[in-house]
Amino acid sequence: MEDEEINYGELGLKVGLEIHQQLNTKHKLFCACPTQLASDEVKRKAIERYLKATKSEVGEIDPAALYEMRKGRKIIYEVPEGHACLVEMDEEPPHELNQEALTITLAIAKALHSIPVDEIYVMRKIVIDGSNTTGFQRTAIVALGGEVSDPEGTVKIQTICLEEDAARKVSEGRGFIRYNIDRLGIPLIEISTAPDIRDPEQAMRVALKLGLLMRLSGKVKRGLGTIRQDLNISIKGGVKTEVKGVSKLELIPKVIRYEVLRQLNLLKIRDELRKRGISNDSVKNELTDITDILLKSRSKLVMRSVKKGLRAYAIRLRGFKGILGWELQPNRRFGTELSDYAKAWGGVQGIIHSDELPNYGITQKVVNEVFSLLNLDPSKDAFLFVLADHEKAERAINAVIDRVRKAFHEVPKETRGANPDGTTRYLRPQPGAARMYPETDVPPVRVTEDLLSEAEKIRPPTPDEMLSELISNHGLSEELAKQLIRDPHITTYLDLVAELPNVQPQLIASTLLIHLKSLKSEGLDVDKVGVEELKQLLAMVGKGAIAKEAIPEVLKTYLSSKGKKSIQEVINEFSSITKEELEKIVEEITGQFKEEIRARGNRAFSFLMGKVMAKVRGRADGKLVANVVKEKISELNKTGGS
Ligand SMILES: [Zn+2]
Repeated sequence: MEDEEINYGELGLKVGLEIHQQLNTKHKLFCACPTQLASDEVKRKAIERYLKATKSEVGEIDPAALYEMRKGRKIIYEVPEGHACLVEMDEEPPHELNQEALTITLAIAKALHSIPVDEIYVMRKIVIDGSNTTGFQRTAIVALGGEVSDPEGTVKIQTICLEEDAARKVSEGRGFIRYNIDRLGIPLIEISTAPDIRDPEQAMRVALKLGLLMRLSGKVKRGLGTIRQDLNISIKGGVKTEVKGVSKLELIPKVIRYEVLRQLNLLKIRDELRKRGISNDSVKNELTDITDILLKSRSKLVMRSVKKGLRAYAIRLRGFKGILGWELQPNRRFGTELSDYAKAWGGVQGIIHSDELPNYGITQKVVNEVFSLLNLDPSKDAFLFVLADHEKAERAINAVIDRVRKAFHEVPKETRGANPDGTTRYLRPQPGAARMYPETDVPPVRVTEDLLSEAEKIRPPTPDEMLSELISNHGLSEELAKQLIRDPHITTYLDLVAELPNVQPQLIASTLLIHLKSLKSEGLDVDKVGVEELKQLLAMVGKGAIAKEAIPEVLKTYLSSKGKKSIQEVINEFSSITKEELEKIVEEITGQFKEEIRARGNRAFSFLMGKVMAKVRGRADGKLVANVVKEKISELNKTGGS
């Protein structure tokens, strides 16, 4: 389905945003440890724990974690020296709430017209994946309400919270998971909007605005992984789906479009199943071992699995022909959804279904034999199988059958994870309302007038204040400033302006907004130009080592080399030529085009200028070239006139 055909208003699209941003405070939220992550060189020790959960919590647990937990999964926490203390190790109670983090949160809340609460109560929110040594995350509501303006309608803020970040996962394997606890306890601000967003582009604009506002406080961390966006997305007749971990702003509209597409397709599948007159109790949990038939095709996948002691267990899906291969999102079919369930609940590699066969070395002849063994009609029916031991196969198939049965009446409530291409995958069922308990180790904090006036001092500028700052202090044209304030590149812009005092902001803005965009429209992968490359290039321009006119050519050459040349190598190729060299070039060209220049008389300037600029390809400043060319022409006119 083409996007242009989708009318999001008619579909009743509703989107809410949840943004988590790390604060750049001196200390963590509940101890005196720094908020920088440990480098690999830092000495560390490891402590071991086992995941545990009480019965009442079980309903909220990631099924994969639950499965591991029942097996007694070991958790290893790396404790890097100087980056974590007894508090993160849960061997000492938390210290008092970090005032700096609270002040920053209040400042951001003010800028959003959110109303601070009178007293901050720290709560415990249960987390059971092992990412918190305590088994819970500490969180506190700091402000309520507020809004973000947007041309398509104001988006309300629901809550602004201050919370501790979780430990970061380092690796995971059979029976263990390893975390580094340097990230645990870094203060996070969490801004949740109401589901007031009505179309995919609006969601990106609002996220950009919130991100920018936080950035403008000057008190938040920058770089990959310091900001994380979650979305909840629903359409009429569908369900509110939570999508976790959208790390790139630019991906937000795509994630929303694809999720809408997925829900629409699931509703179509439901209607199709009804039309075919199949009922959901026809989906039976009867495993048939089809290993021996599959082996006849000498499929490497099957043979490898059998060697490991696994078998192929199949179930019948009467009337399902074409349903499993039905594409929900680009390259993700209904069968892919089932596969996600099998992986999460059964710990298997996935499923294989008849709509994708013959494939994997399994021949049509063998597929036909499976159909007849299962007593199915290949023109109407379908089957699927897993390669697993019997216990895992049962668990995987149970989850798959539950999911297939839901297809008859609804879009299931799920928490999904964002993939790098904008599609999403099943993570776990949605938890009920998060269970919270008061954190008795941290006393409540009164939000005093003093605290509020401290916050006022660092309140980030409003977008209008920012716009006038860009125009009057940075010297940007109004047009460029307005464009910049709506563009995700603004954060890169601010970084570069701060780090390159010798480079005109106007030049930085035009590089980001004009040159990179035009290279993108030429089909080059401009994402390959990172902040570091831009910094090197612009610093050279600032020093006068290359002409600003060379910027587009340098970037184009760099991108076209597809990683074969470093930006520095390309910069060297373009480094400026001396005035003497330039004069020599002008001399040469004048000699070459004597007749043309004479014929043009007064209009020779632009002709000669064009020829020279093409020759120097940005290796000389435009003004300098113009001067040399003018001199040359007046020289020619003099000699020509005498
Ligand atoms: Zn600490």
